Amino acid sequence: PFDLLVIGGGPAGAAAAVYAARKGIRTGVVAERFGGQVLDTMSIENFISVQETEGPKLVTALEQHVKQYDVDIINLQRAESLSLDENGISQIRLASGATLKSKSVIIATGARWREMNVPGEKEYRGRGVAYCPHCDGPLFKGKRIAVVGGGNSGVEAAIDLAGIVEHVTLLEFGSELRADAVLQKKLYSLPNVVVLKQAQTTSVLGDGQKVSGLQYTDRQTGESHQVDLAGIFVQIGLLPNTDWLKGTLELSKHGEIEVDNRGQTSLAGVFAAGDVTTVPFKQIVIAMGDGAKASLGAFDYLMRH
Ligand code: FAD
Repeated sequence: PFDLLVIGGGPAGAAAAVYAARKGIRTGVVAERFGGQVLDTMSIENFISVQETEGPKLVTALEQHVKQYDVDIINLQRAESLSLDENGISQIRLASGATLKSKSVIIATGARWREMNVPGEKEYRGRGVAYCPHCDGPLFKGKRIAVVGGGNSGVEAAIDLAGIVEHVTLLEFGSELRADAVLQKKLYSLPNVVVLKQAQTTSVLGDGQKVSGLQYTDRQTGESHQVDLAGIFVQIGLLPNTDWLKGTLELSKHGEIEVDNRGQTSLAGVFAAGDVTTVPFKQIVIAMGDGAKASLGAFDYLMRH
């Protein structure tokens, strides 16, 4: 068996693999798509010490770094289930039918943003349609933007962005915002924010190059309206890739893997790192640190077993 098998080839999984390989233990990485969310990212300006890079470039660097070491990269393979045998060895079944065995595991299967699924959203993704205020907020300095979603993440994004952009329109589908009262109070105190409730976004508008606005239906009157905008931040949920783990280990109510401060999950010898876990704030630099931490946690576990 492997000493450590990493499931997921994003920044968390890559960092975990490098740390493990440097301990000289037998390490493997299984990834459905090596690179993860970073592959879908155009410009990255907050990966500290690299002023500016592009997602695919960073993925190439991640892959080269992992390949410096003796790591088995099993790419284009999806893990479908995890169980422990009577000796505490993890068994990971892949979609191909194969089963891999490992003394310890790090789950780093990441997350994906929930999409609105309206016309124009995919077309203008990265060209005005954004999902991460920490990543893309500064690109809209001095412009008019919308935030879709009135839960905690939407209202936090609106407050954050209001300090950077000229004007924020927040659209909430329901009749009330669902964010904490203290966040709502802060939001309503800002002069450059307008809140639209019962507003269902129906399409993203653009000029062929970039976003120019959005269309929404007022669910009370049934009327359709248009707002002119340079950007739309979609904040209707981040979905952790844990469907394959339901019933196997402890998940939060949002489906994130519960971990302790060493990345240990509720199963002995099974660790987790990055966006798939309860770690707050989902960012590349955070996922990498988390992967390194879980890897050292797993190494410490192996020393004792
Ligand atoms: P991921 O990157 O999601 O990687 C998960 C890995 O697991 C992938 O290899 C995936 O194929 C694999 N996987 C999933 N399920 C399975 C399975 N069942 N079996 C096997 N493998 C599986 N962050 C920043 O810091 N700066 C930015 O500018 C920035 N911009 C972003 C722009 C976009 C459009 C997006 C979507 C995200 C952006 N982020 C940015 C967030 C950042 O990409 C994530 O926080 C980071 O990639 C999380 O790393 P991760 O390794 O935890 O997960």
